Amino acid sequence: MRPDLFQAPDYYLLDDLLTEEHKLIRDTARAWVKKEVSPVIEDFAQRAEFPKHLVPGLAEIGGFGPYIPTEYGGAGLDQISYGLIMQEIERGDSGIRSTSSVQSSLVMYPIWKYGNEDQRNKYLPKLASGEFIGCFGLTEPDYGSNPGGMITNFKDMGDHYLLNGAKMWISNAPFADIAVVWAKNEEGRIHGLIVERGMEGFSTPETHNKWSLRASATGELIFDNVKVPKENLLPNKSGLGAPLGCLDSARYGIAWGAIGAAMDCYDTALRYSQERVQFDKPIGATQLQQKKLAEMITEITKAQLLTWRLGVLRNEGRATTAQISMAKRNNVAMALDIARDARQMLGGMGITGEYSIMRHMMNLESVVTYEGTHDIHLLITGMDVTGFPAFK
Ligand SMILES: Cc1cc2nc3c(=O)[nH]c(=O)nc-3n(C[C@H](O)[C@H](O)[C@H](O)COP(=O)(O)OP(=O)(O)OC[C@H]3O[C@@H](n4cnc5c(N)ncnc54)[C@H](O)[C@@H]3O)c2cc1C
Repeated sequence: MRPDLFQAPDYYLLDDLLTEEHKLIRDTARAWVKKEVSPVIEDFAQRAEFPKHLVPGLAEIGGFGPYIPTEYGGAGLDQISYGLIMQEIERGDSGIRSTSSVQSSLVMYPIWKYGNEDQRNKYLPKLASGEFIGCFGLTEPDYGSNPGGMITNFKDMGDHYLLNGAKMWISNAPFADIAVVWAKNEEGRIHGLIVERGMEGFSTPETHNKWSLRASATGELIFDNVKVPKENLLPNKSGLGAPLGCLDSARYGIAWGAIGAAMDCYDTALRYSQERVQFDKPIGATQLQQKKLAEMITEITKAQLLTWRLGVLRNEGRATTAQISMAKRNNVAMALDIARDARQMLGGMGITGEYSIMRHMMNLESVVTYEGTHDIHLLITGMDVTGFPAFK
């Protein structure tokens, strides 16, 4: 892969909306990605391997639990800082951002919000430092967009719970130390349980042959009569709203992350268009290529404004699930469109690992599907504005 010459576009001078602290946090993450992620990510993606050596660095830039209070080892930052960190990490690779999102919003968040003090003290500092990696088990083979139908269940055996079932498409599963698993009790109510690697009957086979998020490990979670200690149940929230609350936080981060991938594709295509000469002039001097670039920077700027405003609303505790859905859906589709156009602008070079575009494009095919598909987020917006759920 070529040297990382990334320069972030800021067409509407949106840096003016950020504090000095925001900019410092973002620039630190940006420099880390340039130094540590860009030089190696293509090789890891080609080999379909998660670059585990990046874990301590991810922790240092605030990639694990950026908004978790410092007393539990988190960075204690606001929601804009969290978003900016996700943007920069995904500028490097969506797979690395996936690990960061899962750890922060799908593992640390439920332990912080729904766990008790013992659970917070036991797990959060280790997750924040990267000593522990976590995963989040909601999706099942027969229940993806409709997780409320899940079959995974646990029975109260007096001194422990007995967990049975299976989850699939679980990011970080193959090497996770702990899993936050959503399962139904005997009354059919959904609860979160912390399952630890090494518990008898718990296995995490890896999912191979992915063309997308190749630098992120994905797997199944299999529970075959797993004895889960009673103290591992998250006591403070149950029902489908509990996992959905985690998804709000993760989807918000994805809305920012997708901008990072889009910025990288735009920046690469812009530079290429200024250097690549065909018919005696740079391709950037042709109207067709300018149309692509002009539309890209317009869409990136709109997405930046959307997420910045959403971050302000989240800082004030006013952002709704439907607003988050709108941003996740819009920004990921925006990034995917930009990746496809940018790929074309590089001609044949666009399909190689010399440039990051094709990797971003393939990654975004997962991002547009996970954490609620493009269509499901549209249905959420539709329900929000009409009052009619159209899922069934
Ligand atoms: C790489 C990767 C990593 C993932 N990581 C995790 C993870 O860490 N933890 C986790 O729990 N899950 C994870 N997932 C799972 C992901 O969240 C699901 O794939 C997603 O929710 C969609 O579920 P599904 O794949 O079963 O598709 P389905 O739900 O079967 O949907 C198939 C198609 O039908 C459409 N559809 C579904 N219902 C409706 C409807 N009512 N009306 C119209 N269209 C509809 C969908 O939009 C989609 O286009 C991951 C997935 C991938 C690919």
